[in-house]
Amino acid sequence: MYDYPLYRPPSESNSLIIQATLGCSHNKCSFCNMYRSKKFIIKSLEDIKNDIDYFRQIYGHVERIFLADGDALIIKTEDLKEILTYIKMLFPECSRVTLYGSPKSILLKTHEELKNLKDLGLSMIYMGVESGDDEVLNDINKGVNSEELIKAAKRVKDANILLSVTVIAGIGGREKTKNHAIRTGQIISSMAADYLGVLTLMVEEGTKLHNKILNKEFQLLTDKEILSEIKLLIEHIDANEPVVFRCNHASNYISLKGILPKDKEYLLNQIDYYQDTNKLKQEDERRL
Ligand code: SF4
Repeated sequence: MYDYPLYRPPSESNSLIIQATLGCSHNKCSFCNMYRSKKFIIKSLEDIKNDIDYFRQIYGHVERIFLADGDALIIKTEDLKEILTYIKMLFPECSRVTLYGSPKSILLKTHEELKNLKDLGLSMIYMGVESGDDEVLNDINKGVNSEELIKAAKRVKDANILLSVTVIAGIGGREKTKNHAIRTGQIISSMAADYLGVLTLMVEEGTKLHNKILNKEFQLLTDKEILSEIKLLIEHIDANEPVVFRCNHASNYISLKGILPKDKEYLLNQIDYYQDTNKLKQEDERRL
C-alpha cells in the first residue's frame, strides 16, 4: 500500500497516513537523506481517492489523518480542497488532518487559500525551520532565508492553522553554534509557533554534510556543547503566546518538555542539572 521509505512526525504515530505525494519537493538539504531514493511526485486525485476508499474499508474509526510524504502542501489548492472534502465525507469522525508544508509551499498559498483549507479540515502544518541563522540556512541549502521562514509562519498562523516547527541543535557545527542558537531562539519568538521540537543533528552517510565532516570542513558538537547550544536557544526564546516545547526525540541526549514562556526557568535549570558531567554520563548509560 505504501511507497517506502515513509516518514511522519512523532506526534502522528497513531494517525492514519495517506501518501498524497511521494518524496520531498526540495530534496536538497545537505544533512537529509530521507527521500533521496525517491523522485518527487504528486499522486493523481484518482489514486489518492482510491487510497482513501481502501483505508475506509479496513479501518473502523480514524481520529487523525496525516497526509504524507515530505511536502503535501505543494498540491494545488483546488486538489487539496477536494482531498480534504473527500476525507470529511468518508471519515466524518476524523477531527484532525495534518501535513508537512515546506516554507516555499506555504508562501505559494494565499491567505484565502490557507483559510479555505483550514475550513475544510486542515488543522496543523509541520514546517522544518532547522535554524534561524541565514548563514546556516545557506550552508545547509534550505532554500529559504529567515525572513521567508517568518513570513511563512505568519501566513499559517493568520489562517488560524496550528503551526508545529522543528529546529536542529548542532546544525551550525562548532563554528556557528552561538549564532545558530541565538538567531534560532529569535526566529521562534517571531513565529508564534504552537509547537517547537528541538532535534539533535544525526549525520547520515552519503549526505553532503557527511562529506564536509570527512573533509574537516564541519566540526560536530560534543554532548555538552549541544546542551549549551540548546540552553542558549531557550534563553533567546521570548514568546508572547504559549509554545509547547519538546526536546524528547530519539536524537536528543536528554529529554526536555515544557511550555514556554511559563517553564523557561525550569527548562534552563534542567539543562544545568544535566550539564554536570556525572549526571550526563549516567543519562548516557541509561540510554545505552
Ligand atoms: S530536510 Fe525536509 S525539506 Fe530538506 S530535503 Fe529533507 S525532507 Fe526535504
